[in-house]
Amino acid sequence: MKKNLSRLAPLALFAVMALPLNASGYVIGPTSPGKWGNPLLGTGATVTWSLMGGNVSCGLLASGCTTTALDAFLPSGFMTEIRHAFDAWSAVANINFVQVPDDGAAFDSTTASGDIRIGALPLDGANSMLAFSFFPPLNGNSGAGDIFLDYSEPWKIGFGGSGYDVFQVVTHEIGHAIGLDHVTGVSALMNPWYSEAVRGLQADDIAGVRFLYGPRAPIPEPASMALFTLGLLGVGLQRLWRRRRD
Ligand SMILES: [Zn+2]
Repeated sequence: MKKNLSRLAPLALFAVMALPLNASGYVIGPTSPGKWGNPLLGTGATVTWSLMGGNVSCGLLASGCTTTALDAFLPSGFMTEIRHAFDAWSAVANINFVQVPDDGAAFDSTTASGDIRIGALPLDGANSMLAFSFFPPLNGNSGAGDIFLDYSEPWKIGFGGSGYDVFQVVTHEIGHAIGLDHVTGVSALMNPWYSEAVRGLQADDIAGVRFLYGPRAPIPEPASMALFTLGLLGVGLQRLWRRRRD
C-alpha cells in the first residue's frame, strides 16, 4: 500500500554544495532492515532490476497514473548510462545487479519483475522534481526499490549546459533504492540537490554502501585459471631446460 512506502525528497534544481569534509556523514534510510538480501549490515546482496515500460499502472501514486517508456523521452544511449549507474555501486560494494524482464504488472503489485523497477511519469513539469524512488524492503510490497523519472525534464547524457545527466540522477536514485538517504554537510552524490560539481560516487557514498553491503569482495581466481598459469609455467620451464640441454 502506498502508505507503507517512504516517498523520498526529490532531487531538485541547482545545488548549494557544502564544502567537502573528511568525516563520512552518510545516512541510512528509515526502513528496517533497509537493505536487500541478508538483513545483517555489511553483508552482500544480489538485486534484480527491470524497466517498467509504458502504460504500467501506477494508480497507487496518483489516480489514473500510467508510466511512459524510457525510450520515449530519454536520449539515445540511456541504457548504457543506466547500466553504468548500477555498475558504479557494485564496483565499490558487495552488491550485484542483474537485469531481468519486466512483466508489466502494476506498481507495488505482485510481480516477477526486477526488485528495482525503473519507470517514468509526468511529475511536476521541468526543472523541479527530477525523480523519486523508494527504499528497500521492508517497505510496501514490490514497490520497494522502485524508481520513477520525470519525463518532463530536459534529460541529457554528459555534463555542461542545461539539463540533467541520466547517469548522475539514476545513480543517485539507485542509492535510495539500495538503502541510502540524503546526506548534507558532506560532498556526496547523495546530497539532495542535482549538481555537476562532482560526477558519480564520492567517498561518503562509498562508505555508506559499504556499511550496508560490505566492500566489493575480491574475485577469486578460478581453479582452471590457476592450472592454466601453472601449465604455462611448465611449458616455459620445459623450454628453458631444453635450451640448457642444447
Ligand atoms: Zn534523492
